[in-house]
Amino acid sequence: MAVKTATEQLIALQGVNKSYQQPNGQQIVILDNINLELRTGEIVALLGPSGSGKSTLMRMIAGLITPTQGQIKYHNRPLVGLNPGVAIVFQSFALYPWLTVLENVELGLKAKGEPPDSRRQKALRMIDIIGLDGFENAYPKELSGGMRQRVGFARALAVEPELLCMDEPFSALDVLTAENLRFELLDLWLERRIPTKAILIVTHGIEEAVILADRIIVLGRNPGRIRADFPVTLPHYRDRKHPSFQALVDQVYKIITNPDLEEIEPPATVSSSTEEPTPEPKYQSLPPVRTGSIAGLVELLEDRPKTDLYRLGQELQLEVDDILPIVEAAKLIHFVELSEGDISLTPIGQKFIAGGIDERKEIVRTQLLEHIRLVQQIYRLLQAKRNQRIPEELVLDILESHFSPEEAERQLKTAIDWGRYAEIYSYDEPSGQIFLDHQAEEELAVS
Ligand code: ADP
Ligand code: MG
Repeated sequence: MAVKTATEQLIALQGVNKSYQQPNGQQIVILDNINLELRTGEIVALLGPSGSGKSTLMRMIAGLITPTQGQIKYHNRPLVGLNPGVAIVFQSFALYPWLTVLENVELGLKAKGEPPDSRRQKALRMIDIIGLDGFENAYPKELSGGMRQRVGFARALAVEPELLCMDEPFSALDVLTAENLRFELLDLWLERRIPTKAILIVTHGIEEAVILADRIIVLGRNPGRIRADFPVTLPHYRDRKHPSFQALVDQVYKIITNPDLEEIEPPATVSSSTEEPTPEPKYQSLPPVRTGSIAGLVELLEDRPKTDLYRLGQELQLEVDDILPIVEAAKLIHFVELSEGDISLTPIGQKFIAGGIDERKEIVRTQLLEHIRLVQQIYRLLQAKRNQRIPEELVLDILESHFSPEEAERQLKTAIDWGRYAEIYSYDEPSGQIFLDHQAEEELAVS
């Protein structure tokens, strides 16, 4: 599934320095001695603290500004003027408020001298791919932040850039919208629905870099220098909760927070090609448990600080095997903690018990959207659809690449039950359609 063909060099920076003259005449060095190469087939994250020169570096690659020293090559030739292979997505969306969605998307094509007919055709196609169908004639101010950034993406992608550059493209969006868009972009890339050959994302978010990138370049400050440059070999789609994901985040965190480290070893968890490949993180499996059982278990634990699971089973006259799935489910949504055979409530579990019906639903909703991958995926799919409905087969297809057909059915059933309880989505039995629950949707938007 990942883009793995022979790679070729797109861009090379050789001994690049960028300095600015201060009003007092003093030169300040923003970036110093940058050597790097961007190749086809990779998503590269340029990660660094604010002010480390990330945007400056990206703008040089795009040809918007020129280096003070050193050279930038595009397809092995010195870059002169704007880089014809680059399109940029900006954090601020950078849309023209007086132009419609379609007109905004057409802009880049127009600048490239594309004739009006094919311009429109290409723009419309990208609008469709990027999930803006139906909004062609809307103006930016009529759109939510997430939809506006979709326009930013569509405009950049419509010119079919070889290198898609993004400068903190998700930073201005709320958490859920950002995560949504991130994965949609990843879908487009992994499924090769866009002809883009490489992606450079500028970010100050470590997790964002580790979620998306095949390679992470860490920039340090004063002056900006490359402090680390290493591949990320975890297979997509990455699970934020997976130990190897978290280990990598920790390592990158150390690199960034320790400015005194001069020579940086690549993180140990990053396997080079000679080592064993990292095992594919297992797709999160949902125990076939109803939300009512989870609530029952959590209520049982109310007055017990710490309970031996085995003893609890005896008390309930249940085999451990019978209560384990319930415990597992409660653990998945972070209502309970387990340590050495003892189970205890988390603060969230306690909050759940204390809450009324609505508050409980709200808490479960938050927990599901944060921790349950299948619920997240269904929710994302629904949001991506204009009519906000999907056939259950679509979800089953996804599940069947991880589970047997029977198990896939069971997983779906559980996800429907949980999501319905939390009013994230609803399910229409006869048609087998899952659809967004609008009231819940509005509440989510304001919460
Ligand atoms: P980042 O994107 O990593 O936050 P920038 O590339 O925007 O960093 O900026 C890096 C440093 O360069 C900052 O200290 C900024 O103030 C300085 N800088 C950027 N552009 C200019 C400019 N045109 N003139 C002077 N200093 C600049
Ligand atoms: Mg910046």
